[in-house]
Amino acid sequence: MLFHLTELEHHPVHFDVNFAPGEIALGPDLTQKGSLHTAGTAELLPNTLGEIRLRGHVEAAVEGVCSRCLEAASAQIASKFDLFYRPAPKKTAHAEIHLEEGEIDLSFYTGDGVELEEAIRDFVLLSLPMRLTCREECLGLCPQCGANRNTNPCSCSTTRVDERWAALRNL
Ligand SMILES: [Zn+2]
Ligand SMILES: [Zn+2]
Repeated sequence: MLFHLTELEHHPVHFDVNFAPGEIALGPDLTQKGSLHTAGTAELLPNTLGEIRLRGHVEAAVEGVCSRCLEAASAQIASKFDLFYRPAPKKTAHAEIHLEEGEIDLSFYTGDGVELEEAIRDFVLLSLPMRLTCREECLGLCPQCGANRNTNPCSCSTTRVDERWAALRNL
């Protein structure tokens, strides 16, 4: 769904969409669970050179890989967003782009407007923690034997310390 500049010039556009899994490309590491819902408004800001504001909320459930134990890790997103898009600066221009504080939600668009799918994808990816975990207290994999310490507690940790000392003694 493209919010086209020529339409936004006349009036704001409201949206209320459900995206089935796969309609928004979340990348190879994430799977969307169930439909992703988003609703809100796109408007062209007056007295700007084509600045588009996208406001609304998104609800989604995604599944990725736990960064500690490599099992499935799911995350829920239920967030409001307030995003600003400026036309991308011309490639020939060498002017540096300075983002002022408080403008972290500013992005650029090329072409005739802002694509809802792209905006939502970027927002969802930014909303997720850098490293997903299956649960807060996940014990992860044993670095020694590779056992999943949530399900297979092993007794490697003491040996590991011993080996370190042994290595020091050999110096
Ligand atoms: Zn885990
Ligand atoms: Zn172990």
